[in-house]
Amino acid sequence: MPRHLLSAATPSSRRLASPTRQFAANVLVGVTALLVFAAASRAGAGETPHGPPANAAAASSPIAASGPIWQERESDNFRIRSFGTEPAGPELAEQCEALRRGLYEKWLDCASPQAWRPRCEIVLHDTDESYLRAVGAGASRTVASSLTRHIPGSAIVRRIDIRATRDNWLSSALPHEIMHVLLADQFAGRKLPRWIDEGVALLADPARKQQLHLADAQNALAGHAAFRAVELLMLKDYPAVERWPVFYGQSMSLVRFLVERRTPEDFFTFVQLSLDKGYEPALQEVYQIDDVADLERRWLAEMSRQSTAESPATAAQAVDSPRQSGLRRASVEPRSIEPAGHRQGAIRPPQSNPGSAVPARRG
Ligand SMILES: [Zn+2]
Repeated sequence: MPRHLLSAATPSSRRLASPTRQFAANVLVGVTALLVFAAASRAGAGETPHGPPANAAAASSPIAASGPIWQERESDNFRIRSFGTEPAGPELAEQCEALRRGLYEKWLDCASPQAWRPRCEIVLHDTDESYLRAVGAGASRTVASSLTRHIPGSAIVRRIDIRATRDNWLSSALPHEIMHVLLADQFAGRKLPRWIDEGVALLADPARKQQLHLADAQNALAGHAAFRAVELLMLKDYPAVERWPVFYGQSMSLVRFLVERRTPEDFFTFVQLSLDKGYEPALQEVYQIDDVADLERRWLAEMSRQSTAESPATAAQAVDSPRQSGLRRASVEPRSIEPAGHRQGAIRPPQSNPGSAVPARRG
């Protein structure tokens, strides 16, 4: 963990309170997580929290003050918890605030968004064991995980767990997870299609990571292993783990394709319309795209153009028939397209693959 951001020393032992374990089981959520793949860090979903006590300040009793304990640093919209002898530095809280402001400005053209109440908790785990206790063993390949819970009209839980033992968590994992929290807020906790939730969050990642994700999408097209558009749009959860790279790559590619046709704010309008009316009315109204087949043609043409610019050898394969374009055959006809889910579902144990861990989650 970048120690310059934390004034706390690395603890040699944990003093975790158990009440948050109950919290994990009881909370219906949207969970997301950021994965560490071998070459490019890619996203997946995670799980629910244990970790620090519900009120870290309560642990700061005079008796415990001499040793490392869960500390707390609060800003307008965040409560940062870290294990040590002092709270995280104020500059980290300001970085979180700046990330949030930047994301609101980019996606909603909103310079003064409504404050998050409750604040978004960011839990910085300084050991892998602490992180995995909080998010579950199923998230062993992740570096961060977010959790949200909404009731009608308001959010009641916003939480991000970070495996702060990784060097790049601040630049790569934190923006991604804050974006998931923002999305959950913006759509009032309605379950978003996975490609939208991940595709938008990935656009908060560093440019280099985004390039790696796009390369995954291009490689899948070249290798005839890509998702059909209708397949991607109809996914009700994360695909099998071996398809995560292409899922993330294509999700980000498709979101970027739509965002670049108009504005990020228009994309959010499209998402809202998709949730309310279905994809095709939303495509027609916002993008003047006839249907999912039309979307696929235009999207692949853009991917082909990009591929041509970077690699003439693979470009020619991208637009044609599904077979020629490298697309797998879709098992669903592009007619009855609806978003994967409009409501949060029941919690499932998070120990399986991050994608299927918690269906209500955005990951
Ligand atoms: Zn994610």
